[in-house]
Amino acid sequence: MDKAIRITSELIQKKTVTPKDDGAIKLISDILSEADFNCHEILEGNVKNLFARWGSKDSKKTLGFNGHVDVVPPGESLLWKFDPFSGLITGNEILGRGAVDMKSAVAAFTVAATDFVKVNKPDGSIVITITGDEEGEALHGTKAILKWMKKNNESVNHFIVGEPTSKIKLGDTIKIGRRGSLTAYFNSSGIQGHTAYPHLASNPINSMNTLIHSILNDKLDEGSKYFEPSTASFTTIDVDNSANNVIPATCKATLNIRFNDLHSSKTLINWLKEHVDRTNTVHQSQIRMNVKVSGESFINTNSNFTKMVVNEVTDRLKIKPILSTSGGTSDARFIKDFSEVLELGLVGKTMHQVNERVDINDVVNLKDLYQSIIKRYFSEDSY
Ligand SMILES: [Zn+2]
Repeated sequence: MDKAIRITSELIQKKTVTPKDDGAIKLISDILSEADFNCHEILEGNVKNLFARWGSKDSKKTLGFNGHVDVVPPGESLLWKFDPFSGLITGNEILGRGAVDMKSAVAAFTVAATDFVKVNKPDGSIVITITGDEEGEALHGTKAILKWMKKNNESVNHFIVGEPTSKIKLGDTIKIGRRGSLTAYFNSSGIQGHTAYPHLASNPINSMNTLIHSILNDKLDEGSKYFEPSTASFTTIDVDNSANNVIPATCKATLNIRFNDLHSSKTLINWLKEHVDRTNTVHQSQIRMNVKVSGESFINTNSNFTKMVVNEVTDRLKIKPILSTSGGTSDARFIKDFSEVLELGLVGKTMHQVNERVDINDVVNLKDLYQSIIKRYFSEDSY
């Protein structure tokens, strides 16, 4: 049995719903140590992370891999046809939570890198970073690893994140950027009162209604070269009122914006402020706004590293990958401030679903692909 398959199965058996570790980091760090990687556990908050380097940190070229061993909860247990933490290997699949997102990619790049350095001694260095906090708030995960790396002068030139980026066939999609995400929380305060005497009250729903219409009717953009149009979606409207004859005192609403490279969180916050100010003037109301930024949009075009990876995927898998920026946020949003980064991984069809599973051939092919990328990275000199 291929080592990547065995390790994927063993990782799935670790119950690692964020932020639990259950021995997953140790499993990987033991394999890396055995292949002469220097491993450091980075503990922050209640999260265990791993930094591992083969070779010298003064190397002129360092290739990094990043992944997470935490998983989302299994959800409705009755809908699972097998134990989500069994890691069962059937004829052609490995079953369980994390099979595609993304324990198999962690196993694949771990085996690819360790097998490679055991035989070849590249003129350079390989770094592997693994976190236990990607699916949650991601406060103590890759962010903490990068902080630790900066503090310890550990640099990386290019990172590959092993998230499941492929759509239908392994290698058909590489992510070279991601949309940004921000959430705005609006609170409209009025004056509570009797619906029979509305002139004595001030209804916060009216001003919130105006604000929502005003934002939704102001289209952000039509998309850009590598990005789909930005989207603004209201996700909650709450008044917490069970009476039909009481005008409520407050109305709250939540808005999530996924934005492309035509915006930044700063320009969007100003855009939202204008809408709030205009609404407040018209209604003589008091709507306040709080904003939480999850990540800025970013894009990496014209990179020789990306070109090399595209060529390797094309040569090996006979498929020309699409360069994409679709999907939610990932840890690449933190890494992009640290080094160049792209994302390449398995077909994500069953990620976060019940009965998550991965094709055994895909895992082996991904491991072989990562290994040939490592080989090409250290044998060519143009990036
Ligand atoms: Zn993931």
